[in-house]
Amino acid sequence: MSEIKSPGKLYLVPTPIGNLEDMTFRAVRILKTVSLVACEDTRTSGILLSHYGIDTPRTSLHAHNEHSKVPRIVEKMILGDDVALISDAGSPGISDPGYLLTRAALDAHLQIEALPGPTAMIPALAASGLPTDKFVFEGFLPQKKGRQTRIQALIEEDRTVIFYESPHRLGKLIEQLRQFAGDDRQAVIARELTKKFEEYVRGSLAELAEWVQAQPKIRGEIVFLLGSQKTSERINP
Ligand code: SAM
Repeated sequence: MSEIKSPGKLYLVPTPIGNLEDMTFRAVRILKTVSLVACEDTRTSGILLSHYGIDTPRTSLHAHNEHSKVPRIVEKMILGDDVALISDAGSPGISDPGYLLTRAALDAHLQIEALPGPTAMIPALAASGLPTDKFVFEGFLPQKKGRQTRIQALIEEDRTVIFYESPHRLGKLIEQLRQFAGDDRQAVIARELTKKFEEYVRGSLAELAEWVQAQPKIRGEIVFLLGSQKTSERINP
C-alpha cells in the first residue's frame, strides 16, 4: 500500500539585493532541501543558486505566467512537495511576484513560512536619517493614471514614505513631489544598496533636484524616501 504524504509547505525566501554575502544560512538550507524552487527568472537565480551549490530543480514564476503556473505549483504542494519561491532580488511578494502563489497556497490550506532577509526598503529606511518609528511603503507609483492623486495623498502622510523608482524617472518623481510638498521637504535617495557604489543623498527636495540635474546619468537601483511635513520642520526649522 502506498504511503499518503502530508501536504508540503511554501517557503518565501529572500535573496541578496546586490551582495551575495547577504544570503542567510537558513535560506541556503531551505533552497537545498525543497523539491522545487520557483524563480522569477531561472537564469538570474541560476547564478546565485550555483554560487551556493544549490542544484534543486527550478521552474519559472513571473508576472506573465503566474496565472497558469500557480495552480500547478499548488497541486505539487498538496501532493506533498515543499516549494520555495524566490524573486530576482530581495523578498518575494515585495514589488515582485509572490502574492498570487501565497494567496492560492492559503486558499488550499497549505502552510507558509516567510524567511526574514534582504529587501531594499529596510536598509534604506534605517540609514536614511528620517524617522523610522512609523513608515509607509508605497513601492512603484503608477506611471500615468492615478499618479498625481497618489502623490497628493502621500505628501499629507505623517509617516516616512518609501518609494521604489527607476533611475530614469527619479528626476520626474522629485519634481512632482516638489510641486505639491514644496522645496523644503526633506527626502533621501538611497542608491545601489549593498553594492560597490552604494550611496545616500540626503537633503530637501530642491537640493535633491539640483543633485539629479548635476549627474550626467543616474544609474543603478533606487529607493526614494520622503519625510513628513513635521520632520522637515524639525530638521530644517
Ligand atoms: N523584492 C525587492 C525587495 O524586497 O526590495 C524589490 C524588487 S523591485 C522589482 C526592484 C526595485 O527595488 C528597484 O527598482 C529599486 O527601487 C529597489 N531595489 C532593489 N535592489 C536595490 C538596491 N540594491 N539598491 C536600491 N534599491 C534597490
